[in-house]
Amino acid sequence: MMLKILHNRFCDLLYPRRCALCDAVLSHSEGRSGFCSFCRGKLKPITEPRCMKCGAALKEEEEEYCRRCKKHRHEFERGLALYEYADVCEAIYRMKYSGRKEYARPLGREMARRFAPQLREWGIQALVPIPLFPAKQRRRGYNQAEALADAMGEALGIPVERRLVRRSRNTRPMKLLGDKERQINLKNAFLCAQDGVKLQRVVLVDDIYTTGSTMDAVTGCLKAAGVKEVYFVTLAIGSGV
Ligand SMILES: [Zn+2]
Ligand SMILES: [Zn+2]
Repeated sequence: MMLKILHNRFCDLLYPRRCALCDAVLSHSEGRSGFCSFCRGKLKPITEPRCMKCGAALKEEEEEYCRRCKKHRHEFERGLALYEYADVCEAIYRMKYSGRKEYARPLGREMARRFAPQLREWGIQALVPIPLFPAKQRRRGYNQAEALADAMGEALGIPVERRLVRRSRNTRPMKLLGDKERQINLKNAFLCAQDGVKLQRVVLVDDIYTTGSTMDAVTGCLKAAGVKEVYFVTLAIGSGV
């Protein structure tokens, strides 16, 4: 026991844990949460009023849907995002492009903590991370959506289904594409297991929700395979409401 504690302290010295948002080195007590006290104090999760479909923050209490969801019919039931993209973009960038997988754990745990009541209400049977194209995953070393889903699954005791959906071809980077181009880009980009899908209600997990075209494409694929209800949760959602 003592040895294990010493070993952990030694590792902390060699590889200090860093804040998932600002990258500051964490004190021993902050280390457990994954955030420095400054970021924890300033970070505001999205609260009501929010879009009944995609969960984006709304300005007016009377509004039911955001501008995007009023214009566009989605395939998924509904979803929730924890933060506004602008508040956590640096953390997402580091998590994705500088191999900092360890950021995903505290962020995924925070998603689990905040979304637990909703996931219970929806009757979620499995978490389904949005897959990366295999070659891209090899380059990046891991899939950030899977790392978030793993941390959530561990905290909530909900199984993570990694093999239900896979990406059948590489797609062009979405950030440069418009709405229509995104849909074309994603057409037939996902393949779902056709046999033995016994799940009724699943939640898709990803780092960012932008227009919902990825969520819609995966939802369509899962529903064709027999899943009845598909929800989503993400770490962040782009504004545009
Ligand atoms: Zn910080
Ligand atoms: Zn919306």
